[in-house]
Amino acid sequence: MQLKELPGIGEKTAARFQTLGVRNARDLLFVLPRAYQDRTNPKPISAVTEGQFTTVSGQVMSISERRYRSRKTLEVMLTDGRGVVLLKWFRFNRWMKGNLERKYPPGSEVLASGRMASFQGNLEMHHPDLEDPLGVKGGGIVPVYPPLEGISPRTMRKIVQEAVRRLVETVNEIIPEKILRENNLPDLRSSLMRLHGPGDDDDVQALNLGMSPWHRRLKFGEFLFFQLGLLMRKRKLESRSSMVVLSGGPLEREFLDTLPFSLTQAQVGALEDVAGDMSREVPMHRLLQGDVGSGKTLVAFIAMLRTCEAGYQSVLMAPTEVLAEQHHRNISGWCGPLGLRAGLLTGKVEGQKRNEFLSDAESGRTSLFIGTHALIQEGVSFRNLTLAIVDEQHRFGVLQRLALGRKGSSPHFLVMTATPIPRSLTMVLYGDLDVSTIDELPAGRTPVETVIFQEEDRSRMHLRVAREVEDGRQVYIVYPLVEETVNMELLAAREMADYYRQRVFPHLKIGLLTGRMGHREKEEVMQRFRDGHYQVLVSTTVIEVGVDVPNANLMVIEHAERFGLSQLHQLRGRVGRGTGSSTCILMEGPRITDDAKKRLQVISSTSSGFEIAEADLKIRGPGEFLGVRQAGMPEFRFADPFREKELMSAAREAAFGLLSRQDELDAAMAGEVDRMWSSDLLSGASG
Ligand code: ADP
Ligand code: MG
Repeated sequence: MQLKELPGIGEKTAARFQTLGVRNARDLLFVLPRAYQDRTNPKPISAVTEGQFTTVSGQVMSISERRYRSRKTLEVMLTDGRGVVLLKWFRFNRWMKGNLERKYPPGSEVLASGRMASFQGNLEMHHPDLEDPLGVKGGGIVPVYPPLEGISPRTMRKIVQEAVRRLVETVNEIIPEKILRENNLPDLRSSLMRLHGPGDDDDVQALNLGMSPWHRRLKFGEFLFFQLGLLMRKRKLESRSSMVVLSGGPLEREFLDTLPFSLTQAQVGALEDVAGDMSREVPMHRLLQGDVGSGKTLVAFIAMLRTCEAGYQSVLMAPTEVLAEQHHRNISGWCGPLGLRAGLLTGKVEGQKRNEFLSDAESGRTSLFIGTHALIQEGVSFRNLTLAIVDEQHRFGVLQRLALGRKGSSPHFLVMTATPIPRSLTMVLYGDLDVSTIDELPAGRTPVETVIFQEEDRSRMHLRVAREVEDGRQVYIVYPLVEETVNMELLAAREMADYYRQRVFPHLKIGLLTGRMGHREKEEVMQRFRDGHYQVLVSTTVIEVGVDVPNANLMVIEHAERFGLSQLHQLRGRVGRGTGSSTCILMEGPRITDDAKKRLQVISSTSSGFEIAEADLKIRGPGEFLGVRQAGMPEFRFADPFREKELMSAAREAAFGLLSRQDELDAAMAGEVDRMWSSDLLSGASG
């Protein structure tokens, strides 16, 4: 049914609904209320507390626009005679403001619903839903839908409820009854009816927290189809057969004998995991995570060596040319004494060299290869690619990982990441991968000393930089900004570089690296820094990914409070790659909040990537922490995959049960799985 067939919806309103992702009338059934007002008893303002989702009623005292620094807010002061609450909007336009002034002039009564916050000891409600108390008849528990410009809450409610009335009978439950029963869940149709039209006795708090049984049914559905997708993917992978690669051969032993240090316990453990996987005929799909500098590359190389001993080829793909070249240099160094060589393919490798690579790969003359995404181009083919390794995996999309896999016939897979992923996330994010963790650094590493400087310490910082350069060392200065328009308070990185060049260190050679530069240009600057041509590199975050410049022992991070914790940790991992002690100076911006101060304390007090990742996750939430889309996760509409762990586990169990009882899902279920996981990812995973 088209939206326009519902009363009160014309062309214009229908178009507005599109912004909520609503294309037809049936979609409206799945636009859930974002809150429920308990009209049966609005709370006295004096009785509400921070964090609660609630409805208060009161009289408007004033409407005003305020400015805090560069931020504008729209504020309404509301009182019920005993208490005062400030309603605040941080995002608003003139239309909204005018509308508010017209509908709720001082003295008028209003019902406001939203979550209570507190600021400097005063109660506030941010972006509340407002309604005229006289406009609502009947009382009870009233759903509040997401706001849409030009549509009043009341009209919105009428439209959705009409859609529910007409269409809810067409909704059919596709989850088997047995599973619903086992998990104490209502069916889909009654859930939708209840969510859009709660009964007077329903638990408002549970509804507002999204924890009512009806919410749980919707969330469970998402988790179930998500888990089914993961398990089916895994099953499909395991149904393929790959080459057996054994460990402990003469080459491996020779290599370990000549290594000037011994492996850490964690490296040994990871290598055992890998050996276990590769000795089976089922392709390995393993995530190797470990802090920067924990020695992942060495683990990768030993796996490559084993593959070579078994007579097969392996490839290591890195996200940038500089990194690929760095890996190639290291690995070639290890290969030489063993009488092996490693091929390199990046965008830079052209002509004769490229042809050589292609024929080495195709003929099987060479067994170890390193490169960038140039490896997954058409025209690159391998004789018997059996191990594929992807470094810094969060930089690549899942699809690139899969494309690499298609260069062999179901090769073993090892993905390496230096963003330690807290245990609480790995199951969700990498449910189809097994995980090995390198949780210790090689002995004798001195952790980067991290100090916090304020603005008044700036000249002391300049001195440190100058002294470092005098000692023949190099320095990174990292700047959080790429675009000048983002915030005029900040100097752009470019201006910053000019400032350093002209005003502070006129006698030094200073390079500049920004995210806006072209790929080539970036690589060139990086190369010149590594070659020692530049003594100081002013850069935005692009240096984050594992580039080694052993001669750089000092890093200065400007406006450190603007970076995420994990990002800061990754950044400082860039120094201390060589010998000697190294330092990271965090320059604290002048207007730092208490929260930000605490975050910087975390960074300066621990060098454990995992502790930092956990803290970061708590502060920023998983979406921002990883970039969920980038990690190859489907989108969840109702559930939070990272917070609702119990429900997720229940869904995982149900999915296991279902797949063990039957080989094929019925068509409706399979369709849902496909919708959740874009079919691309699913079919690609078999490659
Ligand atoms: P990652 O890729 O995990 O950041 P690398 O593999 O680049 O770390 O290792 C960093 C440095 O440590 C390299 O120079 C490597 O040769 C060295 N290294 C690796 N394992 C050990 C070890 N067990 N003992 C001492 N040094 C090691
Ligand atoms: Mg690395």
